[in-house]
Amino acid sequence: MQRTPIAFLGSLDAAEEERYRAALSAAMPEEVVRPFRMLTQAERAAVEIAIVANPDPSEVAQLPRLAWIQSLWAGVERLVRDLGPGAPPIVRLVDPELARTMAEAVLAWTYYLQRDMPAYRRQQETGLWRQRPYRAPADTTVGLLGLGALGKAAAQRLVQAGFRVAAWTRSAPAEDGSLAGVATAFGPDGLPDLLGRSDIVVCLLPLTAETHGLLDAGRLAAMKPGAALINVARGAIVVTDALIAALDTGHLEHAVLDVFETEPLPTASPLWRHPKITVLPHVTGPTNHGSAAAVVASNLRAYRETRRVPAAVDVARGY
Ligand code: NDP
Repeated sequence: MQRTPIAFLGSLDAAEEERYRAALSAAMPEEVVRPFRMLTQAERAAVEIAIVANPDPSEVAQLPRLAWIQSLWAGVERLVRDLGPGAPPIVRLVDPELARTMAEAVLAWTYYLQRDMPAYRRQQETGLWRQRPYRAPADTTVGLLGLGALGKAAAQRLVQAGFRVAAWTRSAPAEDGSLAGVATAFGPDGLPDLLGRSDIVVCLLPLTAETHGLLDAGRLAAMKPGAALINVARGAIVVTDALIAALDTGHLEHAVLDVFETEPLPTASPLWRHPKITVLPHVTGPTNHGSAAAVVASNLRAYRETRRVPAAVDVARGY
């Protein structure tokens, strides 16, 4: 029997869409993946599964029989917001290769801060030859906000590298042995202590109603004096003006920012020119089309076999 095509919906440029379509075809040759614009009316009426990357919500609404939606992104706040409460289940991308590259980058940006690279860069600008005291990983506490698919991989990598690692989550983490060496805390009461003792805070939280603006003036003030921040999650979790103020007063030493409320970061943004901010163009967890397609193929095959929708985002919680 001919399978109903899988709809592909997104606002990607043509080359990027083609890269995904090629990777998806290679990973699941048994399926037909067709862009929304190429589906006939009859196919739109019958489509059960959509693979999406920033889709137009009005196109999603034209697929009345959708059983579930596979996102090509790990962060789904925009999809949850755009599709609203009545949307079919949303399955986000949980890709081990993404976790690996994210953990690698978190370790790299952590080393950048632990070895005082921003300060040496500033010294170089004035020709200043001054050796700063060395602080070993074992004397450096890295506090992770979020310990999900990506946070856990980062925590494990930091533990292996000898850092003291603490982490904060919403609910009590499962005691399954995967967090050996990580001091965990959860819920609102657990945050001040983690902020107060971390030399480097790494944000790997999803953007939700609860985390929007979480790192505001008060919470940044609760961070250890001289600490640094790495935000690789979503820009809106950190209040930009409050961060700039905390850096300007000298309370915080540096911030590495990979994500911003508006991307690309507008040229006029003061973040570009701030001497205590490292701006990265959202490169910490790069997409690997091949591994993402393999994860999607595995989810689809499991669904075809069992008719059970893969684990989906909790829309009320927002992640
Ligand atoms: P997960 O959903 O697997 O994990 C989220 C973690 O955050 C969980 O530990 C969760 O706690 C915790 N959390 C959520 N809400 C709260 C809260 N209110 N208070 C405390 N902790 C909370 O997400 P991933 O690890 O897969 O991804 C994290 C984010 O990384 C994505 O949402 C995305 O925005 C961002 N990202 C950035 C990329 C980049 O290139 N910069 C690339 C890919 C993703 P609990 O364990 O209790 O549920």
